[in-house]
Amino acid sequence: MRLRHSTSLVSGALAVVALTACGALMWTSTELRRINEATTANVDAVRLAEEAKINLLLFVREADPVVRQSLADNVQRRLARTAAEATTHEMSAAAREAQAKVEALISGGDGGAANAYAAVDALVSVNSAQTRAALERARAWDRTADAIGVATGLLLVLIVGGLLAWLQGATVRPILAMSEAMSRFGEGDRDARASAGGPAEVREMAVRFNEMASALAMQRRAQMTFLAGVAHDLKNPISVLKMSVAVTHAPDVAPEVLRATLERVHRQIARLERMVGDLLDVTNIEAGRLEMRLGVEDVARLTQGAVELFEGTEARHRIVLELPAEPVWAYCDRLRVEQVVTNLVSNAIKYSSGDTAIRVSLSRAGHEAVLAVTDEGIGLEEADRRRLFEPFRRVGRSKDDVPGVGLGLFVVKRIVEAHHGHIDVASRPGCGSTFRVFLPEHAPV
Ligand code: ADP
Repeated sequence: MRLRHSTSLVSGALAVVALTACGALMWTSTELRRINEATTANVDAVRLAEEAKINLLLFVREADPVVRQSLADNVQRRLARTAAEATTHEMSAAAREAQAKVEALISGGDGGAANAYAAVDALVSVNSAQTRAALERARAWDRTADAIGVATGLLLVLIVGGLLAWLQGATVRPILAMSEAMSRFGEGDRDARASAGGPAEVREMAVRFNEMASALAMQRRAQMTFLAGVAHDLKNPISVLKMSVAVTHAPDVAPEVLRATLERVHRQIARLERMVGDLLDVTNIEAGRLEMRLGVEDVARLTQGAVELFEGTEARHRIVLELPAEPVWAYCDRLRVEQVVTNLVSNAIKYSSGDTAIRVSLSRAGHEAVLAVTDEGIGLEEADRRRLFEPFRRVGRSKDDVPGVGLGLFVVKRIVEAHHGHIDVASRPGCGSTFRVFLPEHAPV
């Protein structure tokens, strides 16, 4: 269950309990107030009935007609008030009965003093009984209010205790476990992962952390692989250089051997230079510091210059250069554009067999200069094409046979994007590939 839903549910339950308890207590206090008023009236009625009884006794014994009349008035007044303030049927019936009997006694009609006295006495008894009943009801309501208070308290303690226990077990524990996994990961345990327990929000956090930890671990593995690749790729040219230097130290080295050795040394140094350059570029790109010296340049001339560099060193492939008759202007960094051409052409050479042609063409499309490098090499699978421009990405089976670290195309893409251009690739396995670079054209200068 989600933490948000659980807390809403518990809050709802607490609100219902609190509202019910409030309602019940209000109802109880209203009842108690009513009973209190009735009890006060009843006590008053008892007092009036007792006074009427005393006045009746005095009336019966009094001989003076004036005093007798006054006592009779007293009795009747008190009985009238008792009847008026009666809170139950029994009380008003008893009061009316007493009034009738007293009336009869005073007017000298049927019934004597004994009857009137008995009726007033009965009224006192009824009033006292009603007062006791009211008090008993008040006590019952009091007990009900106590029970409601205790039940509400217990229910609240149960709900809050349950909530705390649930928070402790289902939420705090998984969070602590996750924090421990994070600490272990931070201390270097790359396999530390959070267990996916607790409410949905905590589980989602654990999943996110685990994904992040796996991504970091993968990145680290990729970096280690990259380092191993770099070390391996640096080792090859260095061994060649070492061997070449050893050859030149030999006595009586033939001039042709010396020339061939120096050519080899030159090629290996160029390779080392390119690798180190790519590495430096990647470091700068990752740090957001790709340095650009922009100016309006003729891309045709830059392409020609970059391709010509291969002519002396690359005898196996036939490089066909197709340039437009007029200059193609672009606001760009001269060296970076040459670097793009060099990277694409050297890839075309690396990933195609000798005796095949490599076509380098420059054209215009809309307001863009389009540089295309086409080879007749091994080509690329559809799945590989999509991931080609990621750093350290080497694809296909050729990656084991051809030296490289998988940075060239990443660097090329970033350079092209830094010029507000874009790059795409069309390829078929076994049939070759065409890499196209689009750069915004500049107005002629
Ligand atoms: P590297 O050549 O050093 O491995 P790149 O970034 O230049 O690195 O190229 C990345 C991957 O793309 C290469 O490993 C290779 O598999 C593939 N690739 C690049 N250019 C071509 C091409 N012209 N033909 C076929 N595959 C290519």
